[in-house]
Amino acid sequence: MVTHDVVSPVDETVIASVPSATQDAVDDAIERASRAHGAWAAVAPGDRARLLRRAAEAVDSAREELAALEVRNSGHTIANARWEAGNVRDVLAYYAGAPERHSGRQIPVPGGVDFTFYEPLGVVGVIVPWNFPMPIASWGFAPALAAGNCVVLKPAELTPLTAVRIAELCHDAGIPQDVFQVVTGAGSTVGWRFVTHEKVRKVCFTGSTAVGKQIMAGCAEQVKRVTLELGGKSANIVFSDADLERAAASAPTSIFDNAGQDCCARSRLLVERSVYERFMSLLEPAVRAFKVKDPSAEDAQMGPLISAEQRRVVSGYVTGSAKVAFRGSAPEGPGYWFPPTVLAPVSPDDRVAREEIFGPVLSVIPFEDEADAVRIANDTVYGLSGSIWTNDVSRALRVARGVESGTLSVNSHSSVRYWTPFGGFKQSGLGRELGPDALSGFSEVKNVFIATER
Ligand code: NAD
Repeated sequence: MVTHDVVSPVDETVIASVPSATQDAVDDAIERASRAHGAWAAVAPGDRARLLRRAAEAVDSAREELAALEVRNSGHTIANARWEAGNVRDVLAYYAGAPERHSGRQIPVPGGVDFTFYEPLGVVGVIVPWNFPMPIASWGFAPALAAGNCVVLKPAELTPLTAVRIAELCHDAGIPQDVFQVVTGAGSTVGWRFVTHEKVRKVCFTGSTAVGKQIMAGCAEQVKRVTLELGGKSANIVFSDADLERAAASAPTSIFDNAGQDCCARSRLLVERSVYERFMSLLEPAVRAFKVKDPSAEDAQMGPLISAEQRRVVSGYVTGSAKVAFRGSAPEGPGYWFPPTVLAPVSPDDRVAREEIFGPVLSVIPFEDEADAVRIANDTVYGLSGSIWTNDVSRALRVARGVESGTLSVNSHSSVRYWTPFGGFKQSGLGRELGPDALSGFSEVKNVFIATER
């Protein structure tokens, strides 16, 4: 069996070796999922709900184990990794409530009665990136299973360990092996086979916009259902009337959390020019105080980047000509470390203001007034997330309606809450995950009319 090594970004040691599935192995997994589907779809809604609740409990009891695995495999801080494992538990528990409530409608029509039914799609392929291996997996597999589908899930090559363990926990909880499978291996082999195999009825992809476009084009061949959660270049807009102390204190987390490897990272900080100097003087100590250290330390706020390659890419944006205003610190020695870096003032046309760096690099852009802020915020191919800092509620609403993004927050940097829909405008994606309507993305609507007239 061909395998590939899994390397810890914390100290560059090999921590595991996992199978690199061949196309035959992927086909076998898809066939088994397809055969299992009829029985899974026939499980009574209350029983499916019970199995998902048990899976949530199993994940909860393994929360520390999963968190420790993610610290080692992904370099996430222990605080974040605990939240991520808890998020998987919560997403499973939330969608455990769905099978018993996933009801269609009765629509008034002449000559008979008319019903709609939600039918499962069949086999769903979930493709996961390396930046949030646990939550992103669960946002796909939990609602897909709840809606009566079988799932074949492919974790990223760099970060497969928690997905493999979560699948084991789900199996221990009673979800049949063939109903939820994790297949490790290359995107071009395993992930692409989800696109080309006729028995996979939907691809749920999270990753880069470049690969997302290929997936969408490939899915068109079979008119295959597809959800895309892609890149971002989100704006954090600070108006002069905002609580500047709070806005400055929270800005580092909004970009440096997870070492900036976050699709929702507020990588563009837009500051009203009239308070620019004052805001920067508040931001600098907050950035310098950001704790970049061994991610297993309880007080760590940021760990290393995921790989040497990612560090090379991020470093390419902070070359000699970069306008470095100030930086935080990072450990020396083994591990893919990169210090929090603030570039300022940046023009909206600069490459660092346009491309998703996916690292701890913040571009600060001054703006003149509200219209200018909205214009700059929207001057991007992306539209995933964003924040608005102001104490003027009318302005907050105007700007929130004006910014072309799927998930916005006012006086906060919250992006992902499993109760609410998540997804992007423009090239940040297609479709929505999470929230009360997620199951509709994993179901077909069937309409049935029964004539009652003789
Ligand atoms: P990536 O696109 O390189 O890989 C994502 C996944 O796709 C991996 O599992 C990979 O193996 C697989 N893959 C790669 N090539 C494939 C192919 N040809 N066919 C099928 N599958 C293939 O992305 P990444 O580097 O792992 O993740 C970082 C990107 O993900 C960033 O752009 C980030 O913004 C984005 N992201 C988006 C969201 C969101 O919800 N919008 C969330 C997290 C990450």
